[in-house]
Amino acid sequence: MQLESENQKIKIVSPAILSPLSRRSDKAGLYIHFPYCVSKCGYCDFYSEGVGKNGAIAQNDLFNMYKKELAQRIEDEPSILDLEFRSIFIGGGTPSMMDLEEFESFLEYLRTTLKFRSVTEISLEANPEDINTPFLHQIHDLGVNRINVGIQSFNETFLKAIDRYFEPAKYSKIMQILHDSPIERFGIDLIYGIPGQTREDFIKDIEHSLEYPLKHLSCYSLTQEKGTKYSRDISEGKKQPPNEELQVEILKDLPSILAHYGLKQYEVSNYAIPGFECRHNLGYWAMDYYLALGPGAHGYIQKGRYQNPRNMYQYLRGQYSNHYEKPDANTEIPLNIFRLFYPFNIYSYFEGNSEILEITKNLVSSWRDKKLCDFDPSSGIFQWRSQAIVNLDGYITEFASAIDKK
Ligand code: SF4
Repeated sequence: MQLESENQKIKIVSPAILSPLSRRSDKAGLYIHFPYCVSKCGYCDFYSEGVGKNGAIAQNDLFNMYKKELAQRIEDEPSILDLEFRSIFIGGGTPSMMDLEEFESFLEYLRTTLKFRSVTEISLEANPEDINTPFLHQIHDLGVNRINVGIQSFNETFLKAIDRYFEPAKYSKIMQILHDSPIERFGIDLIYGIPGQTREDFIKDIEHSLEYPLKHLSCYSLTQEKGTKYSRDISEGKKQPPNEELQVEILKDLPSILAHYGLKQYEVSNYAIPGFECRHNLGYWAMDYYLALGPGAHGYIQKGRYQNPRNMYQYLRGQYSNHYEKPDANTEIPLNIFRLFYPFNIYSYFEGNSEILEITKNLVSSWRDKKLCDFDPSSGIFQWRSQAIVNLDGYITEFASAIDKK
């Protein structure tokens, strides 16, 4: 099935530059959580089940449950049907292990159930082991127009250090295969601060990534997440914690290093050639609604936020959350929008609250005077400058305290 049809088109997003973001309540993204991986990486805090190389089990049941959950969410909040969906993001887990026939029929179901914009971004997360030219053509034919590959490092030593399953033969040609693929909007993820990894090692990973022009790069610092094998290994003295000093140094230097390649920081960990930002993820940080389906998935719809249990077996029995909680806007807004290095209209987040608008105007004007951001008081358009990254958490806390209880 092609998602482009005469009647209802869902097609490739052109790399047009977006205008500044603002708070919108009429558009949304759709997140699908595919919970299977070959094996669980030591550092990973996402909900996933390692099912071995031979693929995921119970895919038919899983896709049926996605449909049931969607129907239930619509029953809980019928105005979901009024939203215009602008993105679909299939994350995980390892969605590149999906049964593509099931995926195709599920996309068809979505197309006939929800209202999609004629230009919809459809992103799929993939692992290097699944990337090959026929696969890229297949998913492209299904309508996937953006792919993100979790490479993490090109260096075996560091992949082993974070207990990641990998097939070394897949890594040498991967950038060329992606570059030659029919999917123009592709990106990769890298991790830095792995014990033993030097700054030079990480720069080598970046250089390898950029052997072919790259449209999108996510660079994540390794973190010690509670409950992971990596965290237990640290407590038991089997592994070193992440190198935080190096992480701070790299975080600070990345914007200028990547600017040489035309990659612009648009969020703390994300860089893109302008126009190639991930629209779906921009929606999260801009506080758009997003409907999320699958075990462990958390969503945000008009009725509130919800989180499904991180348990595949419960999910397959139809046990997903029906508990919705309205977010505390004054707490959540700063934590989300100030992660963006992309321009946004800060006034749109506090419309109707003149007291907060005044506080906002004064505080961000003081940041602008310190050359931390650009800010136009007449339009409300705000954008961090890259130097703000060093103390971003501090500025977010300053803003949150200033508007607290107003
Ligand atoms: S492949 Fe990705 S989702 Fe799966 S365990 Fe590793 S980091 Fe987590």
